[in-house]
Amino acid sequence: MADALLAFGLLAQIMLGSTGSMATTGKLQAESSTAARVVPVTTALPGREEDGRVADIAFRLAVAGSKWCEVTEPTLGLVLQHLSQFEPGDRAGLVTGYALDRGPGVIVVVPAGPTAGIVEPGDVLLAIDGTALPPEVDLPARFDARIAHARADAIADPLAAKTAPFTITLLRRGVVSTVRVTPVSGCPSYVHLARSRQRNAYADGRHVFLTTGLVARMRDDDELAFVVAHEMAHNILRHATLMRSDSVKHGLGHTLGTSGRIVRQAERDADTLAGALMIDAGFDPVRGAAVLARLGNDLGLFAAHDSAGRRIAAMQALVAAQRMP
Ligand SMILES: [Zn+2]
Repeated sequence: MADALLAFGLLAQIMLGSTGSMATTGKLQAESSTAARVVPVTTALPGREEDGRVADIAFRLAVAGSKWCEVTEPTLGLVLQHLSQFEPGDRAGLVTGYALDRGPGVIVVVPAGPTAGIVEPGDVLLAIDGTALPPEVDLPARFDARIAHARADAIADPLAAKTAPFTITLLRRGVVSTVRVTPVSGCPSYVHLARSRQRNAYADGRHVFLTTGLVARMRDDDELAFVVAHEMAHNILRHATLMRSDSVKHGLGHTLGTSGRIVRQAERDADTLAGALMIDAGFDPVRGAAVLARLGNDLGLFAAHDSAGRRIAAMQALVAAQRMP
């Protein structure tokens, strides 16, 4: 199973959120779940601790920095898995071990999230507000990224549509129960961890993908938060639309042309927003940006950006400005 995870784990691990705006944010956050809150000892399935680390950082950035986002999303702080993201040969083990034939399974519960102490890693989601989640049918004979993505959306959408407290029916160690959860709002933060030796991170407009190979090179959480926040910022600032526009597309590769300037400015804007998200979430953006100098050209994702020195200096200026009275 490990190999399939290495190859395909990326594709449908969803950091739950939605693209819808939430008009009643303040009210929602003021309400609290009536369920007893117990800080759990375990917040990720065994072997999925790195997913937990990434999800925790993404959640902190998204929620603490929500004032920087025009559009916020309800967030539960859960990472889920489901059968169509795995190769057929691995599915039987996942049904036996995690009952994934009954519904999507919880990989991670973010400790600071609204479901901590209510939902546990290993739980299977059966129904939302009493409505059963659509069953996973038409499992392909081999892994199919489009089907995996569609399934991820089919799970995420009904959860993300819930802007008020709602119930989740869970299967836990063979016992069915119903819990009440209250989403919090945050910046869009669908962050996916891919099991791959490649070192890469990118944003596609809605999702952020980063690889375990890249995470392994991060010296600390500040560096990892810098990479996650930078890619989240591209999505928040809708840079994917900009990059797909004709004026930019035709000029890619000509770094001195108009396109080069547009791309470089977008990268600067992403760094600036990333720095703001990091400060609000309690990370150190200067220490985080140090990853640029430390790994340098080893990180292909940082092509078309300013020099590492200039970007680190920009983070220093940002922190200094924040300290001004
Ligand atoms: Zn970038």
